[in-house]
Amino acid sequence: MIHVKTAEEIELMRESALIVSKTLGMLASEIKPGVTGLHLDRLAEAFIRDHGAEPGFLGMYDFPNTLNISPNAQVVHGIPSDEPFEEGDIISVDCGSLKNGYYGDHAYTFEVGEVAPDTRKLLKVTKESLYIGIREFRLGNRVGDVGYAIQNYCESHGYGVVRELVGHGIGTKLHESPEMPNYGKRGRGKKFVEGMVVAIEPMINMGTRRVRQLKDGWTILTADGRPSAHFEHDVALVDGKPELLSTFQYIYDALGIESNEESEFRRHPITS
Ligand code: MG
Ligand code: MG
Repeated sequence: MIHVKTAEEIELMRESALIVSKTLGMLASEIKPGVTGLHLDRLAEAFIRDHGAEPGFLGMYDFPNTLNISPNAQVVHGIPSDEPFEEGDIISVDCGSLKNGYYGDHAYTFEVGEVAPDTRKLLKVTKESLYIGIREFRLGNRVGDVGYAIQNYCESHGYGVVRELVGHGIGTKLHESPEMPNYGKRGRGKKFVEGMVVAIEPMINMGTRRVRQLKDGWTILTADGRPSAHFEHDVALVDGKPELLSTFQYIYDALGIESNEESEFRRHPITS
């Protein structure tokens, strides 16, 4: 069953989402060669607690950490390790928070130093596909419209769209109905209604869409060992249109990146 949110609930969810946004912004300036995932994890946990929230992933399904850190060929659900990042790595960081009973959950794939051009393109296209998907999250559309748009765009670049993991509704539970696959058919699936909140999160591979899982029971990686990217936003359906609850603006501020990619969507003013 889809749990539709009231305006008050959406405000609480925005608070949780912005804590994750600020956490990712804080991490952005830390990510460089020699730094470890475990270091980021400790920083993130302290930061989230300092903001009056709890880490959303820690202990969820027995996950041992605050962050999912998935370098290079890891798609998602990587466990933070003491392996130092290297120049040219890409690091997908997925973060959750829980405040006032509501979850925030979003993700960004960071570059470590200078990254190969074909990998940079994978990140660019994956992030573009996130916004292409979000545009379809509006009244009158269905789950399949979002999935189709993301799949069509990424496959037109020759990339593999992961099937085994999907986006999701979000609220008082981290994962709520409906599932939001990054593939699908136009006009199919559950209809979007006012007050829905979903996490849209393309997981896109440079090569094959096929994935495997490490023996740790968590880490998902590409079957061919080529890189994978992951970007995720929390989005509410307000006045028939998508409204971003999360933002990458804190990341861009930290990294000195100019971007107006979020400006077409309604978004709460950014505060420090
Ligand atoms: Mg996530
Ligand atoms: Mg998610």
